[in-house]
Amino acid sequence: MKILLLGKNGQVGWELQRSLAPLGELIALDRHTVDGLCGDLSDLDALRATIRLAKPDVIVNAAAYTAVDKAESETELADRVNSQATQVMAEEAAALGAWLIHYSTDYVFSGQGSTPWRETDAVAPVNHYGASKLAGEQAIVASGCNHLIFRTSWVYGARGNNFAKTMLRLAKDRETLSVIADQVGAPTGADLIADITALAIQKVMRSPELAGIYHLAASGEVSWHGYASYVIDFARRRGEQLVVTEVNPIETTAYPTPARRPLNSRLNTQKLHDNFSLHLPEWQSGVARMLMEILNK
Ligand code: NDP
Repeated sequence: MKILLLGKNGQVGWELQRSLAPLGELIALDRHTVDGLCGDLSDLDALRATIRLAKPDVIVNAAAYTAVDKAESETELADRVNSQATQVMAEEAAALGAWLIHYSTDYVFSGQGSTPWRETDAVAPVNHYGASKLAGEQAIVASGCNHLIFRTSWVYGARGNNFAKTMLRLAKDRETLSVIADQVGAPTGADLIADITALAIQKVMRSPELAGIYHLAASGEVSWHGYASYVIDFARRRGEQLVVTEVNPIETTAYPTPARRPLNSRLNTQKLHDNFSLHLPEWQSGVARMLMEILNK
């Protein structure tokens, strides 16, 4: 099996380099050109030519325009990367008879209510990033290519920056922190997403009727405030010297950003669980593991 991975150095892309390697020949690209293969999603012609040259059996697209606030002003670039490039991949996958594995977001939903979103719920993005990701999903479905679309939420990786590292840095500097308490979701490890992707690819190759959209997030739920408090308590128990004494809950309205954020990021993962016989661990187990890696450095 030949796999073309796009976005190899993102949080999820980095972990996919590990989890996809045992499945077959892996061509992993970032936005640069290597051996005539170009992984820049903003260059649609080069992307199309790259897929035709590589002739993969599976395209895994971990690249995306993920700057949620900047997407409000860079709408054209966000659309090209998240929607038009995805359409190119879908068209080429359909022509090759290849699978397209793609990632999307709970930001395709309105964020209203407190019920975890199901795959069949009505979509209504509240910001441009969400709209551009939704357009990417729709292009894939319309193309008729074999696909898996994993909608996920609150992704963190041990590599690079993440929310937990920011909280730990601030907790060493400040006595008081204010963290949003009315947005609720499940912090989901890039490693978990990559592992499930590899398992799902193996399974859909044998059972193509399982193609479709799936919600993929760790189990349980927490607000950003609860997440920050968990991180700080964990670090303190591990002997970290923190100066923070108060972590105050605030509402989203107290922290204005260019892009609106949905309050309800809960995802119902029953379909993934049932169709792929997979167990999704509680969010704390992945976060604790990531914290152990950070704190042991
Ligand atoms: P990252 O932001 O960590 O990685 C995105 C990658 O895309 C980066 O390596 C970036 O490269 C690359 N990229 C951006 N623009 C281009 C381009 N024009 N050409 C080629 N590569 C490009 O994202 P995640 O790994 O966290 O996200 C993976 C997927 O999950 C995405 O589809 C995202 O929309 C989705 N998702 C993410 C969530 C999150 O909380 N992060 C939540 C829900 C869904 P470079 O570093 O060079 O800019």
